[in-house]
Amino acid sequence: MVKEGAPSLKSKKPLVVMKFGGTSVGNAERMQSVGKLVVEHSREAEVAVVVSAMGGVTDMLIRAATEASAGAGEHWKNVRRELARRHREVADQLLSAAEQSSVLPRLAAQVGNFENLCSGFSLVREVTPRAMDTLSSLGEVMSANLLAAILRSQGVAAEAVDAAELIVTDDNFGNAAPLFEETTAKTRQRLAPLRRRGVIPVITGFRGATPEGVCTTLGRGGSDFSGTIIGATLDADEVWIWTDVDGVLTADPRLVPEAHIIPGISYREAIELSFFGAKVLHPKTIQPVMKKKIPVWIKNSFNPSCPGTRIVPSASEGPPGVKAITSLGKASLIMVSGGDRVSFTQMAGRVFGCLSMEEITSLMVTQSSAENVLCLAVHDSELKRTKTRLEKAFELEINYDHSASIEVMPHVAIVVAIGENMKGTPGVAGRAFGALGRRSINIIAIAQGSSELSISFAVKSADVKEAVKTIHEEFKL
Ligand code: ASP
Ligand code: MG
Repeated sequence: MVKEGAPSLKSKKPLVVMKFGGTSVGNAERMQSVGKLVVEHSREAEVAVVVSAMGGVTDMLIRAATEASAGAGEHWKNVRRELARRHREVADQLLSAAEQSSVLPRLAAQVGNFENLCSGFSLVREVTPRAMDTLSSLGEVMSANLLAAILRSQGVAAEAVDAAELIVTDDNFGNAAPLFEETTAKTRQRLAPLRRRGVIPVITGFRGATPEGVCTTLGRGGSDFSGTIIGATLDADEVWIWTDVDGVLTADPRLVPEAHIIPGISYREAIELSFFGAKVLHPKTIQPVMKKKIPVWIKNSFNPSCPGTRIVPSASEGPPGVKAITSLGKASLIMVSGGDRVSFTQMAGRVFGCLSMEEITSLMVTQSSAENVLCLAVHDSELKRTKTRLEKAFELEINYDHSASIEVMPHVAIVVAIGENMKGTPGVAGRAFGALGRRSINIIAIAQGSSELSISFAVKSADVKEAVKTIHEEFKL
């Protein structure tokens, strides 16, 4: 610990930001072991904690707000009881009488906030995105207060800090983006006195605030993002994301029982994996630490002796080829054909304009210029919106001169083989597709990024399990 008044803010110990997810703090027993983990690591490192709401609480809050605004009075009153009960139970089991008397009123105040907001929503029969953010992130305020008190009960100095005082965001409520410069200044300033005194800050995940101080949230699952934002602003040595799995797996274990933990992956591989639905990491998590090259670990709070997966700036010296396979069922292909009236570039311009207007992310895109066809894969949940928008954009060509057409192929899965070391290694795609061919798995469309980081292909939904298994075996993952 650095003494009061010492010139440098940074203590000699490495600084580690530890983020704990909802399951890691899901009940009293879990919170107790998280407390122990933090205390243990705070001997060798300076620790800053970022915490999610207790598992299930955010869902419960959002549902309560929705029901309240629909006029269902009983539902949110039950949630109020449940919210109070779950947090109270932890306090009862783990906190000394003195800690209880300081923390229970704070928890009660949040339950009071919940009540006021929900009764407001039920009166006006509406919940705005702005009000929803204030409500949906109450769980983080409660869990941070509890965890800080638990740490104090275990003998270390700790203080709950509301990230609304640290993370400055734009006003895109529900999915706000951090403003890094402002965030860095505020975070350093707010945490400096705590760090000087050796007090562990326990920071609410998920939350931020606009420059005017209105509460925002970073999107569902956004506490991972909070963790790396805080890590980057403090120039942390490492960020550890504590979750409920041993690390990043080579494939979904429900599809491939032999899937195993990858000890090290690169930033870009991790981003690619999270984009295609590997649940272990929020897709924006890596972005804040990229410039500063801070390593991020995925670790299991239920199995802390397992080292986990280390995510580092560039691909490790590993063997060339495929490192992980991810897949996304429930997709559809949309084939837009421009006919002879619209040039390919015009057509592409219009198609991507539609996607951008609707803020739809395509999962993969392929083109056949000779046939003047653009094929894109989208999530089933976005299919209807995409198709309606495209039909509008090509209305004239479809309905009047019948030159263009839009066709949909449903029940498709996108399989993505990822590995930064595939770059410049000939034959990777050949091996993958050869193996699929031998199993008679038909490939509907193929795309490879020019960065050679991943190869994506579409197969029938029914073939996805076999396809993932086949690639996993072929590359002996
Ligand atoms: N509690 C928030 C959610 O459930 C944020 C998080 O857990 O990362 O989305
Ligand atoms: Mg999460």
